[in-house]
Amino acid sequence: MYIPFVDLKTQYHSIKDEIDKAITSVISETAFIGGKYVEDFENNFKEVYGVRNCVSVANGTDSLYIIMKMLGIKQGDEVITVANSWISSSETISLTGASPVFVDIDPNYYSLNENLLRNAITKKTKAIIAVHLHGQVCEMSKINELCKELNLFLIEDCAQSHFSEYHGQRAGTFGIAGSFSFYPGKNLGAYGDAGCIITNDDEFAEKCRMFARHGALKKHRHEIEGINSRMDGIQAAVLNVKLPYILNWTKQRIKNASLYDKYLKDIPEIILPPVRPNSKHTFHLYVIRAQNRDRLLDYLKSEGIETAIHYPTALPNLPAYKYLDKQDGDFPISTSYQSTILSLPMYPELTEEMIIFIAKTIKSFYKD
Ligand SMILES: *Cc1c(COP(=O)(O)O)cnc(C)c1O
Repeated sequence: MYIPFVDLKTQYHSIKDEIDKAITSVISETAFIGGKYVEDFENNFKEVYGVRNCVSVANGTDSLYIIMKMLGIKQGDEVITVANSWISSSETISLTGASPVFVDIDPNYYSLNENLLRNAITKKTKAIIAVHLHGQVCEMSKINELCKELNLFLIEDCAQSHFSEYHGQRAGTFGIAGSFSFYPGKNLGAYGDAGCIITNDDEFAEKCRMFARHGALKKHRHEIEGINSRMDGIQAAVLNVKLPYILNWTKQRIKNASLYDKYLKDIPEIILPPVRPNSKHTFHLYVIRAQNRDRLLDYLKSEGIETAIHYPTALPNLPAYKYLDKQDGDFPISTSYQSTILSLPMYPELTEEMIIFIAKTIKSFYKD
């Protein structure tokens, strides 16, 4: 059996007629940039997600940058982010001129450790980026309270957590704005780069929209200098086709995670990912911690099972942040976990038979 880490083909074939028709329409109507399909997506997404505004942008990195830029974050400011994430959650801070301040992850839930925040806050701190890694929402009540108490902006990086929930409330709706990526492999994926910003603040939405459209809401009326960050018509049309399926696909991911839990639970050499109480983990990734991780990874590969590591190096330990002069011991959890974490194949189309095969293969690795 061959089991890819992500399988975008099976999903495409399940909705091929709709997708092909949607893409053909964009081309025959030459609705390449802006226009009906993009407008429809913004309206559909805000309706399905239950928010007042959705501003479509080119990708989930721009969305973070635009949010911070429009909050007025600039040189001399500090923004707190998490040590284990994709680099977008820190490079966009630097892009505004501000300095990223990293905190370690929670040892159980792999997201930003809320108990470390107070110590990381200084007079220069302007915002906290809560990255809901793997599809697991951060401990939002504590983070929210702290932000309110100290008058900090709360920004949520929801690139891995479409439709995740904390106490019944959706990721991206806790602070001033939520940032989404629709990179093809994300839970809701386009067929190229795409992203969006959601916010319940109408004025803030218009600011973000203006900045992302060269500083102009009306053609040739540039109120400010902005950037060019647009979702294109083809991506919007693909997302419009996929949106009605997303809640079912999310259910399927959650079901697959529970099947992994069931078939992997008796292997003492691995630790399974716990779900934060009262929350809905949407399992963008199913991440275990494993003894002899590198040898297990190679063994699984030799048996046809593709896995991945999210992420192999904690952000502050990357060459890009050498100037911060951080040591491994500064982020003990992120740094020690980077040699044991392993992301198993995870997508809605994964079958129980495949999960049983993966579990059997992991068991046989540890028996040998
Ligand atoms: C994917 C991702 C992003 C960036 O999204 P792009 O659309 O690829 O720019 C940001 N943050 C996190 C946590 C991600 O996983």
